[in-house]
Amino acid sequence: MGSVEIKNLTKKFGETLALKNVNINIEEGEFFALLGPSGCGKTTTMRCIAGFEDPTDGEIILGDQVVNDIPANMRNCGMVFQSYALFPHLNVFDNVAYSLNIKDLKEGGFLNKGKVYGRMLSNKLFSYPNHIKDKVNEILEYVELDHLSQRMIGELSGGQQQRVALARSLVMEPSILLMDEPLSNLDQKLRHTMRNTIRRIQQDLGITTIFVTHDQEEAMSMADRIAVMDQGEVMQVGTPTDLYSNPSTPFIADFVGTSNLLKGKAESINNEMFVNVDGNQLKSTYSNSTGEVDVVIRPEHLTIINDEKDAGSFDNVIEGEVLFSTYLGSIVRYDVKAGNENYLVDTTYNSGDSIYQPGTTLKLTVEPERVLIL
Ligand code: ATP
Repeated sequence: MGSVEIKNLTKKFGETLALKNVNINIEEGEFFALLGPSGCGKTTTMRCIAGFEDPTDGEIILGDQVVNDIPANMRNCGMVFQSYALFPHLNVFDNVAYSLNIKDLKEGGFLNKGKVYGRMLSNKLFSYPNHIKDKVNEILEYVELDHLSQRMIGELSGGQQQRVALARSLVMEPSILLMDEPLSNLDQKLRHTMRNTIRRIQQDLGITTIFVTHDQEEAMSMADRIAVMDQGEVMQVGTPTDLYSNPSTPFIADFVGTSNLLKGKAESINNEMFVNVDGNQLKSTYSNSTGEVDVVIRPEHLTIINDEKDAGSFDNVIEGEVLFSTYLGSIVRYDVKAGNENYLVDTTYNSGDSIYQPGTTLKLTVEPERVLIL
């Protein structure tokens, strides 16, 4: 039931082409992130899955059913928004119980007969049936909010409100949970805690989850797989390690992690690949492209050669001058100028290590398999 297939999805808003032939397959139980810069089409993709937007072209398949013509409320998708969208006039319990209560009333035929008996609005006016009370209490306990069930929404912190929003979706037992930038309104520390909470719950319940974010660290730390989007298109889909180690384009390399993005000219010499980056001839075992190429080297894959006499034993040597050093706790990041190129170099820092000062000349090396020719 919980798999999602997006087939040749195109969405136009008037003249704006928001999505161009998007294809994504998400397996049941997967935590899948849509990652990309502002305006790339993440929310539109999500809204097409939820049924809030009609595709201009293409199909949305949930489980084994094409749902293009099925209304949003029949798709069994739970949504959690950046803004939480909670009812401020209701307490925590009533917010979480709300949709379950409406569903229960509908199924009992009460709504159709117009007999609601005040049950819709507040548990102060009536007593919920036991099966609703039990379910809501179970979910509140799950998101660690059981002690706050009678609090009004305005009396909660941002993180607590976000957990109410999550509980409100989960209580409906959706097949698919859709989360649109759910952590954006939280401060840095709370974001980290909530990442763990969401991941724990998702794994416990095994619920297929699609998570929209523009924050690569968030996507990398939470998702099983990520689709990186740009200008309405999916650029690459992969696990966090795939995307980091094997980016298919400089855009991906830049968006997922920090990279040195360089220009080079690649040629094969005696069946080995070399790329000339501003006068430095670097051996690469990563690609076979020749000619004008993009070259990506991750900062942590550049190493400073401490002993000058070792330099001859390395395949690749880049000489440069330190422009800046930035102490980041466990690492020191150097900005090194070599010819017309600047290289970021991350080195592990242990207490007592000396830090190279601006103006120092250094030799750097990088393993041939870490010189990515794209
Ligand atoms: P953000 O991270 O800023 O939320 P996003 O990646 O979620 O961005 P979308 O909201 O999906 O991007 O928007 C994709 C494109 O479609 C943008 O160019 C946007 O301006 C456009 N767009 C989205 N909704 C509408 C709409 N209702 N009417 C017209 N254009 C829209």
